[in-house]
Amino acid sequence: MQFKDIEGQEVFANRLTEIIDSGRVSHAQLFLGATAGGSLALALAYAQYLNCEHRRHFDDGPLRADSCGQCPSCLKYGQLMHPDLHLVFPTFTTTRVTSKPCAEEFEEEFRAFLADCGQRGTETQWYAALGAENKQGMIRERDADNIVSALSLKPFEAAYKTLVVWMAERMNPAAANTLLKTIEEPLGQTLIVLVSESSERMLPTILSRTQQVVVPLPQERLAQPQAEQFAGLFVSWMRLLFKLNMQPLSGWVDGIAALGRETQKQFLLYAEEAVRACLLKTAAGLALGDRLQFGDEKFNASFPAMITPNNAEQICRAMNETLYAIERNAYAKISFMQLSFKMSKYLKNR
Ligand SMILES: [Zn+2]
Repeated sequence: MQFKDIEGQEVFANRLTEIIDSGRVSHAQLFLGATAGGSLALALAYAQYLNCEHRRHFDDGPLRADSCGQCPSCLKYGQLMHPDLHLVFPTFTTTRVTSKPCAEEFEEEFRAFLADCGQRGTETQWYAALGAENKQGMIRERDADNIVSALSLKPFEAAYKTLVVWMAERMNPAAANTLLKTIEEPLGQTLIVLVSESSERMLPTILSRTQQVVVPLPQERLAQPQAEQFAGLFVSWMRLLFKLNMQPLSGWVDGIAALGRETQKQFLLYAEEAVRACLLKTAAGLALGDRLQFGDEKFNASFPAMITPNNAEQICRAMNETLYAIERNAYAKISFMQLSFKMSKYLKNR
């Protein structure tokens, strides 16, 4: 899987390739987000990029970098047949596997399922592919034991051994505890990516030992009138955050709360992209793209300097967390008000 094949996730993909290029890869990560939105596909593209022998970097276009798709490592990753890639996912007994089911027994079915649905199939679709929509799959001790023995070997070919656990919230307590030990005592050159749709069902001990990354919903290209609406909202929001005058800020929050969830999410994605564009302007002198002109010359000239390498990451993370909360039906007014307080603090700490 290459990032170029994951539609609408360019902003997030750029964040992932930046982390790898800067050598700050944390050995155990938790990707929180819907598979249908690309969370599993992104985890696989991430591992492929990490191990690619000829990473590509682009001067223009929405992606800053991608794996080459052609080196021996990419070819094997593309087919999910790399000997250093281990995939674990929930399973149950079937007519073929009548006892002690584990992911290893279903590798072929799982690869076929991922190929069929472009790696965006849901948990229910996976169970249907196994022939029983109503059964509840689980990741069991046997899976955890397989993980431990696979990860205790040196990589066969790749720079990194990679373990991807899809629907990690389906680990039973015994499996989760075994995996926890592996996370606590990392073996060199190992990347563990847990992909989960719900942090609430994960053991707190696992949550606290993994770096959590919220995967946003795919971003659709904005129509021009919406881009203008968002630019206007963004400019007024940022101005209110500097003054932190409660009454007008609360009016702004009421306004965004009235727009509906889909628009709120699109706005947050727009705002994150705007913040990243400002950082590129501050840190690398790159011009804001046409899409991100704020329609206000004074603001265009002065605001980007407020975003620096010191606060950009915190701001984007806070926006992502809000997006995830909205996605999970959190109350919009409270979410945007909390985000406003955080942002106001971060903007002052530049
Ligand atoms: Zn490659």
